[in-house]
Amino acid sequence: MHCPFCRAADTKVIDSRLVAEGEQVRRRRECPVCNERFTTFETAELVTPRVIKSDGSRVPFDEEKLRRSMLHALQKRPVSIEQIDSAIQHILHQLRATGEREVKSRLIGELVMEALRRLDQVAYVRFASVYRDFQDVAAFKAEIDRLNAPDGDKSRD
Ligand SMILES: [Zn+2]
Repeated sequence: MHCPFCRAADTKVIDSRLVAEGEQVRRRRECPVCNERFTTFETAELVTPRVIKSDGSRVPFDEEKLRRSMLHALQKRPVSIEQIDSAIQHILHQLRATGEREVKSRLIGELVMEALRRLDQVAYVRFASVYRDFQDVAAFKAEIDRLNAPDGDKSRD
């Protein structure tokens, strides 16, 4: 990186070590032009991306809203709070792992559907019926039949 003192184009790393219990790399650098030394810290950027709504507006990711819609779909279903929390953490992890600063709300909907499909099929159909805005009764019935198929491919799409 550039020297912050004289703006020389390149600087040399003279020492590199892990700090903050391995969460950070601290580097000592030296400028070959002015001989000044300085320190840089490198950390992983794990921010939750902002959400691009269908109308193009951007809003902060809302974990409580996610939890509410999942709890709604899971009403009176045999799924524990621990399982729901762990599914939410998994969704957050997937969002952060995209490395994107903004993601479409549709992606979050798809991740929720995937999580619900693993947790409870009734909750999945409840959520999907609202989220996918099934065109007609036939499409909805096809989804139910697919889930009820004895050895149907439940991992489709
Ligand atoms: Zn310099």
